[in-house]
Amino acid sequence: MARDKHDVVVIGAGIVGLATAYEVAKRGLTVLVVDDHQPGWAASTGNAGMVYPAAGEPMVNPHHMKAGIGWVLTRGGQSPLQFSLLKLPSIMGWGFRALFACTQENHTRGKAAMQVLGADALQQFETYKQDGVEYEEHPGGFLSCFIKEKELEKIATAFSGAPGVEILTGDQAREGEPLLGDDIVGAVQLTEGFTSVYPPTVCTGLARRLLTMGVDLRTDVHITGGVRDGSILKALETSSGATLAADHFVLAAGGWSGKLARKLGSKTSITGGKGYAITIDDPSAKPGQTLFLNEYEAVAIPFDGKIRFTGFLELSGVNMKILPRRIRALRKVAARYLKQVPEGKTEVHWTGMRACTPDGVPAIGRMPKLDNLWLGSGHWHFGLTLAPPTGLMLAELITTGESTVDAGPFDPRRF
Ligand SMILES: Cc1cc2nc3c(=O)[nH]c(=O)nc-3n(C[C@H](O)[C@H](O)[C@H](O)COP(=O)(O)OP(=O)(O)OC[C@H]3O[C@@H](n4cnc5c(N)ncnc54)[C@H](O)[C@@H]3O)c2cc1C
Repeated sequence: MARDKHDVVVIGAGIVGLATAYEVAKRGLTVLVVDDHQPGWAASTGNAGMVYPAAGEPMVNPHHMKAGIGWVLTRGGQSPLQFSLLKLPSIMGWGFRALFACTQENHTRGKAAMQVLGADALQQFETYKQDGVEYEEHPGGFLSCFIKEKELEKIATAFSGAPGVEILTGDQAREGEPLLGDDIVGAVQLTEGFTSVYPPTVCTGLARRLLTMGVDLRTDVHITGGVRDGSILKALETSSGATLAADHFVLAAGGWSGKLARKLGSKTSITGGKGYAITIDDPSAKPGQTLFLNEYEAVAIPFDGKIRFTGFLELSGVNMKILPRRIRALRKVAARYLKQVPEGKTEVHWTGMRACTPDGVPAIGRMPKLDNLWLGSGHWHFGLTLAPPTGLMLAELITTGESTVDAGPFDPRRF
């Protein structure tokens, strides 16, 4: 029977909301997860599936800022970073905050915090599996591929002597991955600290496990606002007119979190950073491991019966419009690194929004203005990897007021 009131309501059944519900339910609290779509339909479904905690760092980075201007000016439609001039006014406030936050000091501090947060992420995925969460995993390696000598030299120097890392020549890379084209000048092979998962299966696997734990999971529920009493959020308002009461509420609405926070009576600075994917079913060829197409920050990933290409960060506000020119550009990027872009039976084009904070660091913890509203969002490129530790941190904060990992650097009230 449906309850009138839950201990915790989680808004958003993306990977972050599902991981949070899992940790909260494990601690014996009653949980309701609501979403206006099926679990994991948004950013959590079409991403690259890389669980790579060591790569975690704020994407707001003085180095990226300089490189980003170069990308936009020189690479036109294939630049890893894209802006929509028409949409710029809607993200102006966020953009200024990002400019001010873009210092070396902030980046160093943010990276250190994200490394601590993600330290046990691989182990947490393993624990999910041991606890009956079923999903497709490819624990093989990660090959970062280069078409420019200068870029290869920079990365090879940075990784020189690191454990689990091997620098390959172009020929060695092609020998291991015959799909790579003649323009590859070298590659960095990673054999530790990484796994690849097929993202939709993690979401459906977690959603199924939640049901067996007694979690109430409701789809087709669109949250429109909140009923407040001073600094307490009493209930959520839905588009059907029903209200959902709880002691605590977790906002895990990905790229929509900023807009929804305002409707609930709080605030946060989160915008959408759109990425694109092409997934080809039954492809004529696929690599044996995840290939990072370094100069364009794109990825080619083999899954069971599929190959997926992902790439681009498009700052065009909160929207899910697929621009055909970006799909064409992603295909061109893939063609620069591969002998040929594989043909397949069907091809699915996709876009999804990364949730982007202005300082590049996730926002996890209590929200401003409302004592019982919590936020788990703003993970940029790392939301799949950092979902399990985010869920754990939120569950600990809600149930004990403290967390094993220092929550200070992630405090949503910093904006
Ligand atoms: C191209 C691309 C590649 C990526 N690759 C990787 C990778 O390899 N590794 C990695 O770690 N990360 C990766 N990411 C990032 C990762 O996908 C995201 O950080 C992560 O999926 C965010 O999950 P989420 O649960 O916060 O948001 P989402 O998955 O977007 O879920 C938010 C949910 O909130 C719901 N919602 C919103 N508003 C409402 C409302 N009003 N009422 C009800 N429900 C609502 C939505 O329906 C949605 O289901 C990638 C992202 C992109 C775009």
